[in-house]
Amino acid sequence: MPSYEDLESKIIDTGKCTVCGACILACPNSHIRYTDGKPKRPKRTLDCVSCNICYDACYRVREGRLADIEAIILGSEKQESIGVHRRILTARIKGQKAGACQDGGIVTALLIYSLDQGIIDGALVVGRDGWMPVASIAKTREEIIASAGTKYGVVPVLKEIREAVIDHGLSKICVVGSPCHIQSIRYLKNRGLPLASSVKLTIGLFCRENYYYHCITEKASSKGINVDQIDKLNVADEFNIYANGKKLSFPITEVKSCVPKHCLICEDFASELADISVGSDGSPEGWSTVIIRTEEGEAVFSGMEREELVETVAVGGLVDIREIAERKREKGKQTKDIFKLKEEGLDKKETAAKLGITEGRVSHRLEGM
Ligand SMILES: Cc1cc2nc3c(=O)[nH]c(=O)nc-3n(C[C@H](O)[C@H](O)[C@H](O)COP(=O)(O)OP(=O)(O)OC[C@H]3O[C@@H](n4cnc5c(N)ncnc54)[C@H](O)[C@@H]3O)c2cc1C
Ligand code: SF4
Ligand code: SF4
Ligand code: SF4
Repeated sequence: MPSYEDLESKIIDTGKCTVCGACILACPNSHIRYTDGKPKRPKRTLDCVSCNICYDACYRVREGRLADIEAIILGSEKQESIGVHRRILTARIKGQKAGACQDGGIVTALLIYSLDQGIIDGALVVGRDGWMPVASIAKTREEIIASAGTKYGVVPVLKEIREAVIDHGLSKICVVGSPCHIQSIRYLKNRGLPLASSVKLTIGLFCRENYYYHCITEKASSKGINVDQIDKLNVADEFNIYANGKKLSFPITEVKSCVPKHCLICEDFASELADISVGSDGSPEGWSTVIIRTEEGEAVFSGMEREELVETVAVGGLVDIREIAERKREKGKQTKDIFKLKEEGLDKKETAAKLGITEGRVSHRLEGM
């Protein structure tokens, strides 16, 4: 029976772990900790003998299962690159934008509306310590607003479900997360992990790739910007830092070395398993692109429309987001091929020749540099 050792050797140590936090959540004995940016069991105890719960909780172990889960949740064959959906539109919070929201403030608005209506009793969000992302539990409007804005960095969001359920008594939780968090929570629910049954709503963010927090702050300081001066970070065609009322943009290639290795094998841009997906690509600045996928997602968003809490217009940049999604899927597949050829014993030169790409690209994908 596979156990923690197998999880470590097949997923954590190979760079396939997305640090979603599910194995930390699932261990009934709380043996796995978030240590040095990874899940880690400090030492083996007798409880670990004949237990495979952490291994079983990891969606990266059986990624093929996600397609079946998608069919179960969304009830139809995959439509195109951005996933199965009911509606797609451009939207923003009506009236004054809530504080430090990243784009149209739609995630914050969805959470506040769902809380006010009793659809949820709390949410797993990502707050910050300086700009360092920190997974946290929001149970009030104020806590939701405090978590607004995008933070770059790996965050084991799902580990917070245990505290949300056991310590805070929550039973109707919304998970906000990157596509990897959403894939993982769908997987846990599908496998019947009891704690996961308290998750009733999922809001997925668009994601081309993530960046290690410390690496980004070092880049910023090399450009003369102290992390305390940063008002907002965002990635579109360039990496943008907003600080002291100014916007500094530089090519994405300058932050390539900050991208975690696991992001290079990721194929999901538009959070295809979420109830609602939200991003900035495809919409003008200050607006969000919203993809409504499930009945639950539709109920929440159309409730906000009825209450006139959001402004909506037809989405303009559908072609762009389809292209970004397709590019990401192709890149993820290619990186997986590179990993596979390495396992088969091919060196970088042979791999490059076999896939018709440069040796430099093979190195970048294998080493994440
Ligand atoms: C790592 C990352 C990469 C992204 N890449 C893209 C992209 O390529 N293209 C694109 O269009 N959009 C991308 N986004 C999404 C975009 O930055 C906004 O989050 C989205 O448009 C929602 O905006 P909003 O104004 O509705 O959010 P807000 O109302 O400001 O709410 C933001 C929500 O995001 C959550 N959050 C913040 N940081 C994280 C994190 N690291 N992990 C999980 N949840 C988090 C917060 O808890 C908060 O609830 C990315 C987001 C992240 C976190
Ligand atoms: S007790 Fe089970 S779930 Fe926890 S670390 Fe050991 S093998 Fe994994
Ligand atoms: S469950 Fe998540 S955090 Fe744990 S090994 Fe798998 S991907 Fe990593
Ligand atoms: S690129 Fe994929 S693995 Fe990386 S943060 Fe985004 S969704 Fe997660």
